[in-house]
Amino acid sequence: MQRKYLLLPLLLLLAACSPNTPPLTNSTLSNDEPVVRKHPKNIILMIGDGMGLTQITAGLYKNGNKLNLEKFPIVGLQKSYSGDNLVTDSAAGATAFSAGVKTYNGAIGVRMDSTAVKTILEEAEERGMATGMIATSTIVHATPAAFIAHVKSRNDYEDIAADFLKTNIDFFVGGGKSYFDKRKDGRDLIGELRSKNYFVSSTDEEDLTKVAVDFNRNFAFFTADADPAPVSKGRDYLTPATKLATLFLEKKSDKGFFLMVEGSQIDWGGHGNNSDYIISEMIDFDKAIGAALDFAKEDGETLIVITADHETGGYAINTGSTMDNIIPGFTTKSHTAVLIPVFAYGPGSELFGGIYENTAIYDKMRLAFGF
Ligand code: MG
Ligand code: ZN
Repeated sequence: MQRKYLLLPLLLLLAACSPNTPPLTNSTLSNDEPVVRKHPKNIILMIGDGMGLTQITAGLYKNGNKLNLEKFPIVGLQKSYSGDNLVTDSAAGATAFSAGVKTYNGAIGVRMDSTAVKTILEEAEERGMATGMIATSTIVHATPAAFIAHVKSRNDYEDIAADFLKTNIDFFVGGGKSYFDKRKDGRDLIGELRSKNYFVSSTDEEDLTKVAVDFNRNFAFFTADADPAPVSKGRDYLTPATKLATLFLEKKSDKGFFLMVEGSQIDWGGHGNNSDYIISEMIDFDKAIGAALDFAKEDGETLIVITADHETGGYAINTGSTMDNIIPGFTTKSHTAVLIPVFAYGPGSELFGGIYENTAIYDKMRLAFGF
């Protein structure tokens, strides 16, 4: 009698352990990963492009010695190197988060051998969850691209834009409208989005905060034809877009949502070795973090994970600096390979302490969701 009931689970276990069974995921998690105490319904992944510890520190001091980041109880560190370079770029960095693979610099949602790898955003879509992305660069730039597109090179912006039509992403806000409506191949992706039941608008037509949102349609809003302006030149949509996204995605599906929010231009300040540019973008990103945190606190079922793809500039705060007057130093106009901080809040956040590979962010998010 007893034996009969044991046989089926034993057979299933043997089948699962068979060497012919391919692994279900790209997981690099070890067996001693902590058990998730409570699964989050929603995950908000926030990426500060080029946001190393110095970028955070400079933003903190110039913001009156406070940041919303300080409210995150769990802090970890991740190793940002890519599949072909100790110093990653944003494409390989974002593909590590989106799909759990170390790939070559420049790769968008593809492995070392250029084959497509499924992303967590696509998996969330398949499971009937709502999905969204916000960036302060173009929406086809490397970081957001790696969550939705599969192309060999980050420079193939028109191909990346075309891949937006292959998913059902519910909400996206960012620049780069020209890659959708002024294309070499003549396709009108704005028209194609509208015929796929998207509301599409742009800052040319109306203010994002004044849009009459239709929750029965998907939402696409372009903040520029090409790159959006820096925050110092008047860009101010990251926080309202984050608030709108959480409200919108929560209503869109009762199965939960995955939202990626990028503070894209912290990196551009680093490339320019421009400390003021870094700091203003860092503080802008932190305001959006505050909006996400307000939502997560109220909601109680949302995990927020904040990290960067890499550090940019070899940025340092040199001797003679005060909190009000940062005296910066830079070692490079490019990226560096320093360990990158990770901050987590909400159910599942306990997974994010410690030191681990950048690809483990993907593994831990899936583990938190219970995928
Ligand atoms: Mg980026
Ligand atoms: Zn960069």
